[in-house]
Amino acid sequence: MLINTGKNIHKADMDLTRYINTFGHAMYQRYGQKVHKVSINAAFTCPNRDGTKGIGGCTFCNNSSFSPNAKEAPQVCEQVAAGKQVIRKRTGARKYLAYFQAYTNTYAEVSALKTLYDQALAIPDVIGLSIGTRPDCVPDGVLDLLASYRDRGFEIWLELGLQSTSDEVLRRVNRGHGFGEYVDAIQRIQLRGLQYCTHLIAGLPGESINATADSARRVVDLGTTGIKLHPLHIVKGTQMAREWKRGEVTPMTLDEYVQVVADIVAEAPSELIFHRLTGTANKALLLAPDWTEYKWKVLNAIYLELARRDLPQGAAFQAFTGSDTPLIPSLNL
Ligand code: SF4
Repeated sequence: MLINTGKNIHKADMDLTRYINTFGHAMYQRYGQKVHKVSINAAFTCPNRDGTKGIGGCTFCNNSSFSPNAKEAPQVCEQVAAGKQVIRKRTGARKYLAYFQAYTNTYAEVSALKTLYDQALAIPDVIGLSIGTRPDCVPDGVLDLLASYRDRGFEIWLELGLQSTSDEVLRRVNRGHGFGEYVDAIQRIQLRGLQYCTHLIAGLPGESINATADSARRVVDLGTTGIKLHPLHIVKGTQMAREWKRGEVTPMTLDEYVQVVADIVAEAPSELIFHRLTGTANKALLLAPDWTEYKWKVLNAIYLELARRDLPQGAAFQAFTGSDTPLIPSLNL
């Protein structure tokens, strides 16, 4: 299907919340004002890079492509102060979540993590944490620490990089974990009642175009409270860049990506929070697909497709199940 991306909606008129329960909208409902994430690079590494789980990392990963602070890692307080200033000017937000984003942000002793997280939570206007990590890197001690912050009234999110529910695909991109580790992690996360967002990448090699919608169905069925989507970016300095140059990887088209996102939104329960619908890579590093460079073009196309279908989030889910709760509630421990 050809998507009419020629028609542009002005940013101010593109109200995605008509169709999607976005993270920004959900936080506004909860706090009565805008809440934004401030990215932090706390100079962690990753067990898939240091030899614990693997070496070389995931084949698509060049961490500097998505972390603006990857080269230098100033103190948490300095990073949050700088981020707050930029975000406040751009969006008017006055409340923030400290987003530990680069690499694996639970990969240290619990006492060291506590020191870092405490620093972030002591900053004025920081109302919580969003912690990016891997499903095989969330031991009980870390979950208990996060639950203790939640119990003190902080907004706490774990962001679990799963990328695909297919073990074959995870092996092919050298993730160093399988779907089983994700299921184990979410059982322990749900036991503590913590919120978590599952990251999925559309267009990984070895997956059909609809595979990301299948992955989304699986994680929704298992009770995820949030989803973050982005298309595969092929960036310089990665194993995947070499595979792409050899013709072994074919990136998705914008039309394909938009259809997959629209399918996932329509089938998601209405309370599920979409933390992100697309992502941008550092322009200097991006090789393909070129359309991922333009975030607003992608969001515009998604908005137009949702408007064309006129199926808001949850519509297809309710039509299929007759309810608005996950299909397999037994895992909502
Ligand atoms: S994508 Fe995440 S898990 Fe994979 S190598 Fe990079 S930092 Fe590690």
